[in-house]
This record gives sequence, structure tokens and C-alpha cells, in this order.
Amino acid sequence: MLLPLADAQAHVLDRVRALAPIDVDVVDALGLVLAEPVVSAEEVPPFANTAMDGYAVIAADTASASEAAPVRLPVVAEVAAGHPAPRPLVAGEAMRIFTGAPVPDGADAIVMVERTERLDDGATVAIRMPAAGGDHVRTAGDDVRAGDEVFASGEQLTPGHLGVLATIGVAQVSAHQRPRVGVLSTGDELVADGGPLAPGQIRESNGRTLLALLAEDGFEPVDLGLVADDDTAITAAIQQGVSTCDAVLTSGGVSMGDIDLVKVVLDRIGAMRWMQIAIRPAKPFAFGVVASTPVLGLPGNPVSSMVSYELLARPALRRLAGHPADRWHRPAVAALAAEPLPRRLDGKVHYARVVGERDAEGALRVRSAGAQGSHNLTAMARAHGLAVLPDGDGVAEGDPVQVLLRAEV
Ligand code: AMP
Ligand code: MG
Repeated sequence: MLLPLADAQAHVLDRVRALAPIDVDVVDALGLVLAEPVVSAEEVPPFANTAMDGYAVIAADTASASEAAPVRLPVVAEVAAGHPAPRPLVAGEAMRIFTGAPVPDGADAIVMVERTERLDDGATVAIRMPAAGGDHVRTAGDDVRAGDEVFASGEQLTPGHLGVLATIGVAQVSAHQRPRVGVLSTGDELVADGGPLAPGQIRESNGRTLLALLAEDGFEPVDLGLVADDDTAITAAIQQGVSTCDAVLTSGGVSMGDIDLVKVVLDRIGAMRWMQIAIRPAKPFAFGVVASTPVLGLPGNPVSSMVSYELLARPALRRLAGHPADRWHRPAVAALAAEPLPRRLDGKVHYARVVGERDAEGALRVRSAGAQGSHNLTAMARAHGLAVLPDGDGVAEGDPVQVLLRAEV
């Protein structure tokens, strides 16, 4: 009996929780999820400053200005960013001012330099248009006020967030720990050291792929290496993984007919559930908890291990990382089939590897990325995403299809 994907996902997600919050230096916090709101103690900007190069004035002094009859004001000082005016501005005066400089006390508007002319004496400016009070003035606190909650708990820290934290002088935040995720490859046939292949051997690839996926997704990858189908070696590697990591991914040894010892070992040391999920690729999957650490058994076929990561591991790891429920799964985007995407009725949802491009209207059109076997890793590598093909006989050319996009198209 095949298990619907949503049931398998729910089984896993119900058994993981966000990692405990820690105080993190902002420099190490990119990608982390806030465990507490950030409240600003400071105002941004901290003082009224000018958004333009020009002249600081009192707006009322320019009321009669026109092209034909400009208002002439003496320029009594220059105010640059980081260098406040030496004294307040008084009626009938102007000060030359540069972007980011504090607006002098007494001034209430900035006239853009393009609307002025400096007269030959160098000490007078002619203003050709009236200014309105507040023109080009960024008032203190107009971005952030002291006491504002600038970010809510559950927000992921992006480069923009780190910039805001810098502007409000915050050096540490309370965020969920970045999940450390171990990756263990298993199989007697695998060679990982680049050496020559003996008959029957293949090169190990899942480890490298999964470690890279983890890094790309902002988790901390931990390489637990490659072990042969050997009880003692597998036991030791998993024990080490669960004692040093927040989650462990294994690949290989979870298929029905498997002779691998991964199953034997995990059943002995943990409480595992072995699943056959109604998807293709990535039907076999295992989940369990070993020494209170989640262990996810991904299938060995290279494409299957990536799809299994995408559909089952990544959402669980995002939950561990503290993301709220609406951000565990990658959102599906609407696309159109640029060619027929055929399949046969088999009780499973297929995840076809596709490449996409935008048509003249900006719609996403997808076509097969190449051979669709679960060992055809090159098509997976080239794919921009996975097209979701519901059970049936496929999607006809021009028909809508949902895509889990992994690349920018
Ligand atoms: P298994 O689930 O262990 O029976 O593996 C299924 C298929 O995936 C077999 O063809 C394995 O040789 C292959 N495979 C398993 N693990 C890896 C790996 N780490 N790298 C590349 N291929 C693998
Ligand atoms: Mg194997």
C-alpha cells in the first residue's frame, strides 16, 4: 500500500521541532530564523537629513521665487554628511548642503541644486522655484521609531535584515540554531576516493550532492562519509552522526528488497518507519528518531535521493531551523507544458525533471530536462525544477502544470 506524499510529510514534520534559540552575532546570522522579535532602541534616521544635494532654506523665504524673478539668498555655510552646520540658519539665509547631511536647525526645506544657480560672487544662490516645507527632508525616525518592532519572530534574516540591524545598532539577535545535518552514504559498490573502479563498483555521488544541497539551503552540512554494507561500520557512523548533529540523512539501503544493513542497524538502534510513498522517483523512504535525533533514510538512486531531499528532508530541516509552517514547503508555481509530458497511470504522482523558459507574455513554459530515469543525474542537474504530474496519462502540450522551481527562470 503506497502512502500519499502528504501523509509521509506530515509523519516527518510532526516529529521534528524548531531547534532551541541562541543569541547569535549578527555577522553569523545570515539565513537564520528569528526566535524573538527585534525591537529598535534607536530612531532611523537618527536626525533630520537631506535626501538631495542643494540648499537648506526656510521655505517661506522662497515663496515668491520664479524663473523670471528668482529669490536671492546669501550662502552662509556648507553642510556635508557627517559635518553638522556650525550654527542655526536664520530667515533670509541659505546653506549649501550635500546628501545625508543634517538639516541645519532653523531650516525646513531643501531646494535641489538643479533648481538653483550660484551667482558669480560665489556667496549668493538664486532660487528659481518656491520650496514647500519638508521638501527633500528625511525626518528623524521616518524609517524606524524607537520602540518599533522592526522584525517579527519567525522572519528569516536576509541581507536586508542584516542591514537594518546594523542601522539600529543591534549586534546580537535571538535566533534558532542553524541545523547541523550529517550525511552518510552506504553501499559496498561505492567508491569515494577517486581511485580506479573495480568490476561492479560505481562512484559515490549522493554524499557530495546532499552536502551541497544542505549548504545551499543554509544548513550546516556535516560529512559522515561513506561506509560499506557492514553492521559495525554503519552502527558506528550513525551513532557518531546522531551524537554530533541535529539530523542525519542516510542514502541507500531503504528499498524493499534491500540487503543493505542500514535497515537492520536503524531498526535496532532507533524507532523507524519504513515507507513506500506514492511518488516517482523517490518511492522508498525511512524516518525515525535515534537518540532523540531525527534520521531520514533517503533512497540510493541519485535522482531519487535529490527528490526525496526536496520533498521530505528539506521541509523537515526548515521546521528544525524555525521556519513557520507556511514556509516549510517550496511553493509550486504555475507553468505551461511546452511539449507533452507523458506518463502512465500507476497510482503515483510523478516529479518530472524540467527546464523552463519565459515566453513573450512572461509565462513559464517547461519541457523535459532529459532522460527521466532515477539514475539519470545529468537531467536532474540541468533541471530548473520538478513538474508535478498527477496520476494519469500526463500533461498535454499547452496545458497548465505545477512546478517546484529550484532555479531562477
Ligand atoms: P540502494 O537503495 O542502496 O539499493 O541503492 C539504489 C541505487 O542507488 C543503486 O544503484 C546504488 O548503487 C545507487 N546508490 C546508492 N547510494 C549511492 C551513492 N551514495 N552514490 C551514488 N549512487 C548510489
Ligand atoms: Mg545500497
